[in-house]
Amino acid sequence: MNGPTRSSTPSSAGLAGAGRPALGRPPRVFRGYAIDLDGTVYLSGKLLPGAADTIARIRREGSRVVFLTNNPLRSPASYAQHLTGLGIPAEPAEVVTPLALLTAYLADRHPGRAALTIAEPLVDATLAAAGIAVTTEPASAGVVVVSFDRTFSYAKLLSAFRAVRQFGAVIVATNPDPFCPTQDGGLPDCAAMLAALEACTGARAEAVLGKPGEHMAAELLRRLAVPASEAVIVGDRLSTDIAMSRSLGMTSVLVLSGATTGAELADSPHRPDYVIDGIAALLPAEPGEPASGPAARPRGSSR
Ligand SMILES: [Mg+2]
Repeated sequence: MNGPTRSSTPSSAGLAGAGRPALGRPPRVFRGYAIDLDGTVYLSGKLLPGAADTIARIRREGSRVVFLTNNPLRSPASYAQHLTGLGIPAEPAEVVTPLALLTAYLADRHPGRAALTIAEPLVDATLAAAGIAVTTEPASAGVVVVSFDRTFSYAKLLSAFRAVRQFGAVIVATNPDPFCPTQDGGLPDCAAMLAALEACTGARAEAVLGKPGEHMAAELLRRLAVPASEAVIVGDRLSTDIAMSRSLGMTSVLVLSGATTGAELADSPHRPDYVIDGIAALLPAEPGEPASGPAARPRGSSR
């Protein structure tokens, strides 16, 4: 708890006032929407209410859409296929994952340097497809790439340790997440592998890609091709989705359909511009719809 006057189950009135978010739906249509996937569009593989209709309406309005995720285990093509199967037609170029940032970052900052990876095969394949050499030889590595790796091992850690300690490789991580939420309690994510490497080398990653970093924010704006003042980030996490919107001056919309409860919102330093129950209330009400939509009150305790 940050303050003695805050209720743990805030009412609408408790959230109103200077510096507090506007409850309810944004009053206008923006030209670009960067929409988080897990907890915003779907949850546990099931589409959240109104997601398909809302995204279809954004497209009808002539606005642009990109989808974002910090999960480096699947390709943009795989996400696009999954979305399309759920009734949200999407193209691979509309999905931004940390792997797209990774190839661009390495090509820009470390051209010609080989990468040694603590990662699953998709990362190696993505780097190779982008023309970036992948090596298992510590002496040949200019960069150690660390990612969410369910095949993490002592042998991988040892190779990366040597590349950094003995041969001066820099460390780049795909995403900052400590764990990936799953129905059965979650899986250790990229930050856990990164912590192991940082602990034994004493080195720190020179870049951690993905939300809420600047690289992800810049890539979203590039793909949306609209000015920051015309772009919205919609997501369910205060420390990633909402924090990232601030870095480049985009508008933020928090949905309470995923990781954040109304109580957590009240205690957080991150202040979204708008708070809605779910993606169904993302656009202004259409004629005949209640103006407040389904978003009048934050939920108190559910996930
Ligand atoms: Mg999310």
